[in-house]
Amino acid sequence: MIKKIKFPELKNENFTIVPIPFADELLSSWIVRTAYAHKTHPHTFVNQYLNYRPYSFFLTESDITLDKTMIKIIEEKSHHKIDVHSLMLTTYSGFLQENIYENNPTIFFTHQKYCSVCLREDKVPYFRKTWRVVFYNICHTHQCRLYEYCPSCKTNLDISKMYENELPYTHCHHCGFELKKGRKLPIHKKYISSLEYQNKIFRVIHDGYIQLGETSIYSFLFFEIFSKLSKLILLNKKHVFINKHPLFSLIKNAKQQNVNHPIFKKIDAKAQSGLFGLIIYIFDDFPHNLESYILQNKLTYYNMTTKVPYIPFWYETTVNAISPQYLPHSMMVTKEEVEYAKQYLMSIGKAINKVNLTLLFGCNFYSKDNNLHFYLN
Ligand SMILES: [Zn+2]
Ligand SMILES: [Zn+2]
Repeated sequence: MIKKIKFPELKNENFTIVPIPFADELLSSWIVRTAYAHKTHPHTFVNQYLNYRPYSFFLTESDITLDKTMIKIIEEKSHHKIDVHSLMLTTYSGFLQENIYENNPTIFFTHQKYCSVCLREDKVPYFRKTWRVVFYNICHTHQCRLYEYCPSCKTNLDISKMYENELPYTHCHHCGFELKKGRKLPIHKKYISSLEYQNKIFRVIHDGYIQLGETSIYSFLFFEIFSKLSKLILLNKKHVFINKHPLFSLIKNAKQQNVNHPIFKKIDAKAQSGLFGLIIYIFDDFPHNLESYILQNKLTYYNMTTKVPYIPFWYETTVNAISPQYLPHSMMVTKEEVEYAKQYLMSIGKAINKVNLTLLFGCNFYSKDNNLHFYLN
């Protein structure tokens, strides 16, 4: 293994070997494999070929933040065989979050989790993009829980490091444990619905929208309210209605860490699988479960919307229909919100018209009563 050497001329060289990325492979996983194919330590490799300081490629969350110039350089060095962007977590932009790079990039991602059974079955072990999504805590292939850290020493994984500069990325860098040897973490029958809810969340991410009653809501506008509901459940202990659901026992006594943003990261992956399941349950049979949750917990419009930085229109109108706020004038979408929506539509290459704005806001841009059509000009 080549480590800590300097061949300045390599900066101008292309990669000698270009491994083909596997399905759903993460950029950092692919870079690490490429480094090993060159018999070079990953930190030395990114230093030699890409001119990074040894650890900085991996420290700077390249899976999210790698810039256009560096993407181009890596593609050139790979003889244009690799679509680098497709390996990055920013492909979730517009699905999990409106714009992952600009708005708080790590809300919906976690450190590297993994499925030990997947690694056991891989011909060449590799790390998946999905394993970093906060909503993905159960392997849907093997129906087992993911590990959040090394099964043996509980250290967070860092696949760019090597245990004593000897063992490869398939071992914990801190204790040398071979990651695939982690036992399969079963899901108790009682909690099997958390897998169904997780699948539902991933269908929403995949489709880019969720159907709530008559209305289609863009997925990222749906996920925007997860922090708020997590806060109501975890901090404000608004538990009536959901406390009858089997998943409730996963969060009832869950240990809460000192993390404030986003709130759902206060609890571990197992408890999160319960929490996210319960949130989806609140939106099942829309709007009846939501109505039961709001009314039985005696939540006001204010309770449901306060401190939500940008309240999606669909959420505001739904909550208002169940627990109305007092408003002297009729509710409107503001001109700024429409401008913002236009920019968004443009950025994803969609036409700015009544159809798309109506879909986006869940309110009628054709109507003569609300004057929304004026904002189109
Ligand atoms: Zn698996
Ligand atoms: Zn370990």
